[in-house]
Amino acid sequence: MSSPSKRRVLLLGSTGSIGQSTLKVARSMPDEIEIVGLAANRSVELLAEQVHETGVKQVAIHDTTQENALRRLIPQDVSIHSGPEGLIELARMEGADIALISIVGTAGLHPALAAIETGKDLAIASKEILVMAGEVVTQAATQHGVKLLPVDSEHNAIFQCLDGHGNPGEVSKLILTASGGPFRQTPAAELVNVTPEQALQHPTWDMGPKITIDSATLFNKGLEMIEARWLFGIGMERIDVVVHPQSVVHSMVEFCDGSVLAQLSNTDMCFPIQYALTWPRRIKGDLKALDLAKLAKLEFEPPRFEDFPALHLARDAGLSGGTLPAVYNAANEVAVQAFRNGLISFPDIWHCVKRVMDTHINLPSSSLDTILKADREARLAATDFCTSS
Ligand code: MG
Repeated sequence: MSSPSKRRVLLLGSTGSIGQSTLKVARSMPDEIEIVGLAANRSVELLAEQVHETGVKQVAIHDTTQENALRRLIPQDVSIHSGPEGLIELARMEGADIALISIVGTAGLHPALAAIETGKDLAIASKEILVMAGEVVTQAATQHGVKLLPVDSEHNAIFQCLDGHGNPGEVSKLILTASGGPFRQTPAAELVNVTPEQALQHPTWDMGPKITIDSATLFNKGLEMIEARWLFGIGMERIDVVVHPQSVVHSMVEFCDGSVLAQLSNTDMCFPIQYALTWPRRIKGDLKALDLAKLAKLEFEPPRFEDFPALHLARDAGLSGGTLPAVYNAANEVAVQAFRNGLISFPDIWHCVKRVMDTHINLPSSSLDTILKADREARLAATDFCTSS
């Protein structure tokens, strides 16, 4: 018997870092969370293990060439949805209360909208969903009466700080914390020598390669500024960033009376995932509270805006709105891959994004087609930059 309060969770992107942490959270509270559907890109063996563990009856695989391999590994009574359309079909499934989407890149956009349109709350772990399509997604959520729950640790922290203090007139600003990445203290002149291996060493968080490099360039924080603008309906000019190397304070809200509320926990994505899935309740799981007395210190410092231009570019994109945030995201994605492939230098990631943004003709972002077209054009322009530089 499932308890009446049990959350039925559809997990899209189950084999990645966030997906695996979500399954860990689910495992720790079987009376609270039930996984009812799984989707992955192409890691069939891990996906098959997860199907056996959770007993789901519906699964989606993005890469159609892996469908047969998956079929051989899972019970016959499990339905397989395949390809980009398969992910959308799964997102529309009945019998799920919430869809947690942690799919890298733009592939999560249509499934996210499909989940909203079929009345599911959305736990958002993929930044692209709100960075690219913040207007479309927030409007759809309002229209269908579903809740958007942030899984990113910073936004989840702000969400927790705002709980019960949501009156927009009382909020002065949102303060996103940034670890500063591995090059926080590297002199600007030396950034040109940074190798992909060095950029993949994150000081505090264990994450996938794309987001780890984004943390080193601060593009990750830039994307989070734009994401925050949509999630909390607050102007870009009231979204601040402070560097906090220990990554213990996950973000803060400053109120009109001068008080600041912060959310603190150990650096483990299971914390925000659990809160997003059990909200509005707090449930005792397996996670260990901070031992404050053992923390030697908590430091804060301003970001190096001039040496790490990703934040200025994000503010420009967020203030302009339209398709520019999608362009910021797409150009960065191409540039990160080019950097990993040794085609461009570390600072070229910024140069590439700036160039592509400067040449983009901005359009209103009220349709997904317009956004996706801007995304494709930005990728072409960024590829051009990376192969000709
Ligand atoms: Mg984050």
